[in-house]
Order: sequence, then C-alpha cells, then structure tokens
Amino acid sequence: MMSPVEFFKKLPKKVCPECGQHVEEQAESYLMECERCLAKKVE
Ligand SMILES: [Zn+2]
Repeated sequence: MMSPVEFFKKLPKKVCPECGQHVEEQAESYLMECERCLAKKVE
C-alpha cells in the first residue's frame, strides 16, 4: 500500500521556469511562473 505521503510525493509539481520554485496550483491561472516572477514581469 502507498502511504499518503508517498502519494503526494509522486504528484507532479508545477515549477516556475524562471526561478525553479514550486508554484502553487491555481485553477484559474494559465501562467507557469510563480507570483514573484509574475510581479517582476508586470510593470
Ligand atoms: Zn519564479
């Protein structure tokens, strides 16, 4: 049997292509970057 911890470890994580940080899944967002990198892009 697979423990819940192992299950979540196997889930693919969305990673920011800019800084490599894990990005929280946002259902309404189509963007890949994390909030920090997005903030940098928005002037
Ligand atoms: Zn980033």
